Formats: sequence, C-alpha cells, structure tokens
Amino acid sequence: MKTLAEMRYSKLAPKVVKALETRGFEAHYFESEAEAAEKIISLIPKAHTVSWGGSKTLTDMGIQERLAKEGYNLLDRDKAATPEERQDIMRRSLLCDTFLSGTNAISEDGQLVNIDGNGNRVAAMIYGPKQVIVAAGMNKVAKTYEDAVVRARTIAAPLNAQRFPSLKTPCNENGTCSNCVSPDTICSFFVTTRFCKPAGRIKIILIGKDLGL
Ligand code: SF4
Repeated sequence: MKTLAEMRYSKLAPKVVKALETRGFEAHYFESEAEAAEKIISLIPKAHTVSWGGSKTLTDMGIQERLAKEGYNLLDRDKAATPEERQDIMRRSLLCDTFLSGTNAISEDGQLVNIDGNGNRVAAMIYGPKQVIVAAGMNKVAKTYEDAVVRARTIAAPLNAQRFPSLKTPCNENGTCSNCVSPDTICSFFVTTRFCKPAGRIKIILIGKDLGL
C-alpha cells in the first residue's frame, strides 16, 4: 500500500514532468525504483562510455553495479589506484557518452539546483557528456525555486557532508549549515539548471519515493 507521501507524489508528478519538459528536459515518472532502473538502463546504448557523479540514489538503486555486470565501459573514479589516476578519470568523465547523476533539489516549475564541492558533477551536467541522466526521488521536489535552493543548502549539503566524516566543516560538527568557507567545504559551486540545451540532452527520471539525500 502506498504511503501518504507516495500518494501525494503520484498526484504531483504530472505537473513536475510537464514543467521539466517545458524547459527542454526529457522527463519520466515511475512509482518504483525497479521500473526507473529499467528505464535508465534502456536509455544507455551499449556502446556508450558511462560515468557518474556521487549519487546515493543511483547507488541505492544498484545502477552502477548493474552497468558493470552488463559489460558497459565505465569510468569509475573509485577504482583508481592513485589520486592522480582518480583525477584523470574525473577529467575524462567530462567527455563520456552518458553521465549519471542525482540532484540536490528540483523546483515544481522544473529547475534543478545542485551544489558541488569539486565541480566535476555540475560541470558534466552543464556541458560535455552526450547525455545526462538524472535520477531523483520525489522528496527532492520543492515548491518554489527559492525552496529548492533552501533544500539544497540546508538539507542536502549538510547530509552529504556526513558521508565524509574526515571533512572539517561546521555541518559535520553540529549538523547545520553555517555558510562556511572552510577549505573542506563541499559547497563550492551552486548551479541552477533552468533550461536544457540542447533539448533532451538531460533526462530526468523521477521516482515516487523518498530517495537519496
Ligand atoms: S557548513 Fe559549509 S560545508 Fe556544510 S553545508 Fe554549510 S557551506 Fe556546506
């Protein structure tokens, strides 16, 4: 049985899909992670080189694992043997064929808001890879653009920081954002994607669940 949140998500989804399409995104809504995973795999040609930015949603859905099993050519920075190799993979990922990502927030009027520490994820979303596939639980949808920025800054970013306990940031100490300029900050680049150009390059897979951070 659907939760109340899931019932709401299925009612809200058509409005968000339409808003995203108006802004040039290809957008799809699925009620389950399994259906969404099938769609994501179907959007990636077997000949594509695939890479991704850090995304709990994609990892929890097992997408990278499945791509590896199915023999896709992957650029996986976590497989690097040295920091130099890791940097090299991250640079080459900017020119991969399919780049996978989550998003920190989406406004109901179809704008994506993302915050990045190193910039590699948002750079690839903006330009380079032939296509970008973004997976997002409907919990990422915020009422207005301003609400999406607040979500990215006050919920997603402090939660993301918890994934890296060694980072010396105020949010890793007390769980709230202090708008820091710590050398370890994960909030270096704030990117709003308000229109997808060329049309259809960014494909948004909305899922009617609470997923990711
Ligand atoms: S405290 Fe710093 S690193 Fe943490 S969310 Fe705020 S700006 Fe980002």
